[in-house]
Amino acid sequence: MAAPSRRRSRHSANRRNADFELLTEERREFGYAVIDSIVDHLDELPDLPVSRRPVLSDTDRNALDVPFPLHPTRWQDVLADIRELIFANIVHQDHPRYFATVPAAGSFAGIMAEALSAGFQVFGGNHLEGAGPSLVERNTLRWLAECCGLPAGAGGIFLSGGSMANVHAVAAARQAKLPDGMDRAVAYCSDQTHSSVDRAVRLLGFAPAQLRRLPSDADCRLDPRVLSEAVTRDAGDGLRPFLVIANAGSTNTGAIDPLADLAEVCRRLDLWFHVDGAYGAAVSLSARLRPLLAGLGHADSIILDPHKWLFQPFGIGCLLVREPGILRAAFRLVPEYLEDYDATNDTELNFYDYGIELTRPFRALKLWLTLRLYGSLELARAIEYGCRLAEYAEARIVAGGVFEPVTPASIGILTFRCRSEEPQPQLHELVVQRLRNDGVAMLTSTKLRSDSVLRLCTINPRSRRHDIDVAVAAMEEVVRAYRR
Ligand SMILES: *Cc1c(COP(=O)(O)O)cnc(C)c1O
Repeated sequence: MAAPSRRRSRHSANRRNADFELLTEERREFGYAVIDSIVDHLDELPDLPVSRRPVLSDTDRNALDVPFPLHPTRWQDVLADIRELIFANIVHQDHPRYFATVPAAGSFAGIMAEALSAGFQVFGGNHLEGAGPSLVERNTLRWLAECCGLPAGAGGIFLSGGSMANVHAVAAARQAKLPDGMDRAVAYCSDQTHSSVDRAVRLLGFAPAQLRRLPSDADCRLDPRVLSEAVTRDAGDGLRPFLVIANAGSTNTGAIDPLADLAEVCRRLDLWFHVDGAYGAAVSLSARLRPLLAGLGHADSIILDPHKWLFQPFGIGCLLVREPGILRAAFRLVPEYLEDYDATNDTELNFYDYGIELTRPFRALKLWLTLRLYGSLELARAIEYGCRLAEYAEARIVAGGVFEPVTPASIGILTFRCRSEEPQPQLHELVVQRLRNDGVAMLTSTKLRSDSVLRLCTINPRSRRHDIDVAVAAMEEVVRAYRR
């Protein structure tokens, strides 16, 4: 495919900038071909199957088993392998009919920012070496903090995802509330809390029993009274409650814990209040939806994944903290070889002081560019659209009569089950598998109080009502065929 303007190099020389590197003109051509691949793919995506069956053919498996490369291969051939062997064997999580886990559709702005930031080898670790980038990171964090209702002075850090952000949040809570060590300390969350919290607690050296998973209420929410009683009982037993983790959009059902009331319990009992909004806190970008998260601004820390509902390519999570100084206290240290750097730095803007990464990429650029290019109002509309799409799916499912909702559409997530006498786990499993095998759509099943349910997450802005119709009709057909 011909690119409109394949201009010549501004420098007359057609040269290599490293002995092994491609020539200037080759690099340009390779680059254009990469962009063409991406743009073509994004246009073709809706017509592709969501997934392929088998997951990996023997032919492809063998073709990918290349020996350690000693000599150069033409870029055309390697790019062909990437497209035809590697990327042909993925599930398209950005496909308009991918409704499983949490769909993620990177905006074109985000995709280009990845290339730009890699192209300029931006070091995101400190102010001295990345003065522009560190300011952009801080400002982008401030934008998000403001949307979430945190006070001026709040800050945070961009990390690789929600799991890493939860680890850093628990580390911050420990820094603030457990100066004398972790002995007998207890953290609280509901049975709907994401598994990354268990991993964070384990990684930081707490025993599994130091995280209490309290039973959620009928709406899958953490009841402030249940929390308050558990904390009081534990404190009476000589334990040291220090942290509460609430959900602003649980992965299972999109449930939002009563944040304002939980914040009040935390204030009264002197507990760190962390809110896991990995996917759901994005709704705070919308002035219309923001009231759903009332109380979010009382959090001591919040996580929010731009690679979920802020339309970014993978690899960007975010931790927001009311008092960034606590993160610095938890993570900052200055090795000898960085001492003069430290002396000349604006150390408030050294992001390597706020987390465990020293060398770190300039993740903020993709979100910053996305917000600038499209404007936050457009993104807010896309988020509202994702919520409405789940409501549409709920109505469509009810109208079809084969399935019935279990939990109503809540910020882009809906759960439902088959209305039938048949054993549901098997039938649900069959629905999930059949749709995946046919490449029609992807969804997941999950468990609510040990009952099997099907689940749709509709936050991909590329999904249309028609995609919901196609997916639901295919699900209904699986059930009808099963009964025949
Ligand atoms: C996805 C998710 C996480 C984990 O985030 P990753 O970016 O996948 O590491 C944590 N909490 C919730 C509620 C999530 O939905």
